[in-house]
Amino acid sequence: MIRLSDEQEAAIRAHAVRDYPYECCGALLGRVENGVKVIAEVRPIENTHEDGHERRFQISADQMFALMVEERNGGWTTLGFYHSHPDHPARPSQYDRDHAFEGYSYVIVSSRKDGTGNLTSWEVVENVPSFRAERIEPWEGPRQQQYEAVMAALTDEDRDRCLAI
Ligand SMILES: [Zn+2]
Repeated sequence: MIRLSDEQEAAIRAHAVRDYPYECCGALLGRVENGVKVIAEVRPIENTHEDGHERRFQISADQMFALMVEERNGGWTTLGFYHSHPDHPARPSQYDRDHAFEGYSYVIVSSRKDGTGNLTSWEVVENVPSFRAERIEPWEGPRQQQYEAVMAALTDEDRDRCLAI
């Protein structure tokens, strides 16, 4: 479970619109409290993927190293990452699955030219080639409805990659 404030969600959405039609990405920093990833800072990161970052996001080794150094020096812990899916649903792609690491949360927001759509979060499931949908607190209301919309639209292929909450 991950906790995201309205302001943090708004920052992710604004970044997604700003970088459209390309994928934006960023880090989710904070602390784990009682098993909940409590986000303290949403930090935009440059998407360094070389061939067409419309469909891919990549965070460089240098950027990852900088986050680790910051954490070691008493900063926030990197709890996950966010990225946008321009003109695509807020569900993980095969590329996302192939490049995901256990323990991190992966927030995905669907973006369009004129705004954003559903916003969801995903975690890697151990030993299974799947993501599990992760609840974003506060859960009731729009966030729950966004998951239901994404889950209802899953194809058979998506279903192998995305597990319900
Ligand atoms: Zn993706």
